[in-house]
Amino acid sequence: MIIDKNAVVGVHYELDVEGQKIDASGEQPLVYLHGHGMMIPGFEKQLVGLKEGDKYDFIVSASEGYGDFNENAIVELDKQIFLVDGTMSTEVFEGAQLQLTNQDGQPMSGVVQKISEDKVTMDFNHQLAGKELHFTGSIASLREATKEEISHGHVHGPGGHH
Ligand SMILES: [Zn+2]
Repeated sequence: MIIDKNAVVGVHYELDVEGQKIDASGEQPLVYLHGHGMMIPGFEKQLVGLKEGDKYDFIVSASEGYGDFNENAIVELDKQIFLVDGTMSTEVFEGAQLQLTNQDGQPMSGVVQKISEDKVTMDFNHQLAGKELHFTGSIASLREATKEEISHGHVHGPGGHH
């Protein structure tokens, strides 16, 4: 069989961005259900048609990866938000990664870009937004998903849920 929608794929991978290793599978391959949006779109697209044992090496563009860099995701926030008992939290400094909560109660991760007298500039872009992703690796295992896995939208058994 070859990789297509509803295949359960065990994949070894290494991700390099701008020549730097960012992420990789461990000793065990990453196991995922293909075609259910579990992986970034450009990654799944490139694996279609591969079979067990195949090696791969490809580049995923930013728009098919973690998205293009969005200027609107850089925001100036009131410094007041970051004060703890009237003084600036020690966790807030330029380059710090912070977890904030938006008005809808959703967690948002951002990086402090600049701290001025009364504002803190935060960049909420994904850290890999706007970057080309270089993936290399191999297909370690491949099988058809069960009906149950397809209806749940995830993999059961080794490397999966339950
Ligand atoms: Zn399940």
